[in-house]
Amino acid sequence: MSAGVSNRQFLLWALALLILAVYAAYAAWQWGLPWLAASATKLVPVSWEQEVGSSAAAAIAPGAKPCLAGVAAQLERALPPPNPYRFEIRCAAAQEVNALAAPGGYIVVFQGLLDAAGSEEEVAAVLAHEMQHVARRHATRAIFRAFALQAVAGLVFGDASGLIARVSGSLGALHYQRADEDEADREGVLLLKRAGLRPEALPEMLESLETATSGEVALPAWLSSHPDTKRRIAITRELARQLE
Ligand SMILES: [Zn+2]
Repeated sequence: MSAGVSNRQFLLWALALLILAVYAAYAAWQWGLPWLAASATKLVPVSWEQEVGSSAAAAIAPGAKPCLAGVAAQLERALPPPNPYRFEIRCAAAQEVNALAAPGGYIVVFQGLLDAAGSEEEVAAVLAHEMQHVARRHATRAIFRAFALQAVAGLVFGDASGLIARVSGSLGALHYQRADEDEADREGVLLLKRAGLRPEALPEMLESLETATSGEVALPAWLSSHPDTKRRIAITRELARQLE
C-alpha cells in the first residue's frame, strides 16, 4: 500500500469520526436533554417537588394568601387515584392576568385573572388546567429541562437550595411543551366533568381572557404562555360537547 493511499484513508476515517462526533453532540443536545429531563422527573420524590414548589411559589408571589380552597378540594377529590398531591392555591394581589403551577401542588393565581374571569367555574377551569400540570409532572419536567445541572446535582446531593434559587427567579418564564399544554387542556376539561363542574368553563374562560384584553397590545400572560388561543378554544369546546 502506498503512503498516499494510507494518508487518504486516514483522512477519510478522521472525517468520518468528526462527522460522527458532531452528530453525537447534536443528538445529545436535541434528544439527550429532554430524555434526561423526562427520566429524572420520574425519579423525583413528591416531597422534593413540594420543597422546591413551596419555595418557588413563595418567591414569585410573596404575600399571596391561601384561597379557593373549596373548589380546589372539589377538583382534587376528582383526580384519578393514586394522587399523591395536596393542592394549595394562593391568590396574589397583582393585576397580572396569570396563573402558575409550581411542582408539588402549589398554584398561584393573580388578581388580574380573577377579575377577567366571567364566573367562578371559569376560575375552576384555570385551576383544573394548572392542577394537571402538577399531577402529570409537567412543571417538574420543565424545571429539569431548564436547569438540568442544578436539578440533577440537587437530587444527587440531597440539597435543593441552588435549584430553588434558580427556579424562584424564573418560574414565570418556564415553558411547557405544546404537548403538555394540550394534555393539561384535555385532562382539565375531563377533570371539571368528573368534579361535577361544567366542562365548557374552560373554553369560556379562554374567551373571557381574549375579550377582556382584546384592545390591548400584549396578550395576557396566561394566554401568551399558552399559544394559539383560537385552536385551544375549538379543541376544548368540541371535547366539552362530547362529554355532555
Ligand atoms: Zn398550561
